[in-house]
Amino acid sequence: MQTITLLSDLRQARKPLPGKFGLVPTMGYLHQGHLSLVERARAECEHVGVSVFVNPTQFGPSEDLERYPRDLEADLRQLERLGVDLVWTPTVEEMYPAGFQTWVTVENVTAPLEGKQRPGHFRGVATVVAKLFNAFTPERAYFGQKDAQQVVVIRRMAQDLNFPVEVVVCPTVREPDGLALSSRNAYLSPQERQAATVLHRALTSAEEAYAAGERDAELLRALMSSTLASEPLAREEYVSVADPETLDELNRVTSGALLSMAVRIGKTRLIDNVVLTRKAETG
Ligand code: AMP
Repeated sequence: MQTITLLSDLRQARKPLPGKFGLVPTMGYLHQGHLSLVERARAECEHVGVSVFVNPTQFGPSEDLERYPRDLEADLRQLERLGVDLVWTPTVEEMYPAGFQTWVTVENVTAPLEGKQRPGHFRGVATVVAKLFNAFTPERAYFGQKDAQQVVVIRRMAQDLNFPVEVVVCPTVREPDGLALSSRNAYLSPQERQAATVLHRALTSAEEAYAAGERDAELLRALMSSTLASEPLAREEYVSVADPETLDELNRVTSGALLSMAVRIGKTRLIDNVVLTRKAETG
């Protein structure tokens, strides 16, 4: 495994690698959610690259950029074990040199949900992912369903800007009690960690209502909200029942609808989602 800091070195190392190249973009502090993407890439591609970069442009001024957890040594050990070929750990100065002023802005699908709560977030995400696509020239790029809107935004960007990259989405990896793995879970106190299961409980309650035949989206939103309200340490930012492609809120729920939410547990902001399936419909 080659661990590389300079873009010029990355290009050199990438050039001779034949066959399909799979890229997994991350912000590090890797957990099994990240590693599941790497494993999938490893299984499907001849060569695998991972970026570890806490991207400052996707954090708002009052967000957790400074205290975002980092442990590069542990990350590299895990990536080495999984047989990754290239790891790029660029500096902020290399990613955004003095004078930087070119941004990728995806329009409609960044307006609601995370985009509404975190202005500028997806501009930072789309820009850094475009730069990662240019740096690694991957045939495939692997993203987690955990960040559902991010997947919609990246797909749109890749299509609109003609990146010859197949976007592959991998299922959300969860703790046994349903909490979605996230680097930000490290912020939670033991009591908050317990309270954080309410996101999955709220999604499950809506999923069950859908399976039992409920098709009124407003009712599912109300059900998720009331489950969240039952947890004293949780504060809802939004709950949504949306079209999975346009992210427009639905009135009538259909198979494939995206149920999503953002919730504060103390100071920690957590997101989670599920996609309704036909299985849920019958089962
Ligand atoms: P991050 O380091 O948070 O930017 O995440 C890097 C990639 O890992 C993104 O594509 C995330 O969607 C994905 N990811 C994060 N958590 C999970 C999880 N629990 N299950 C699956 N993928 C995840």
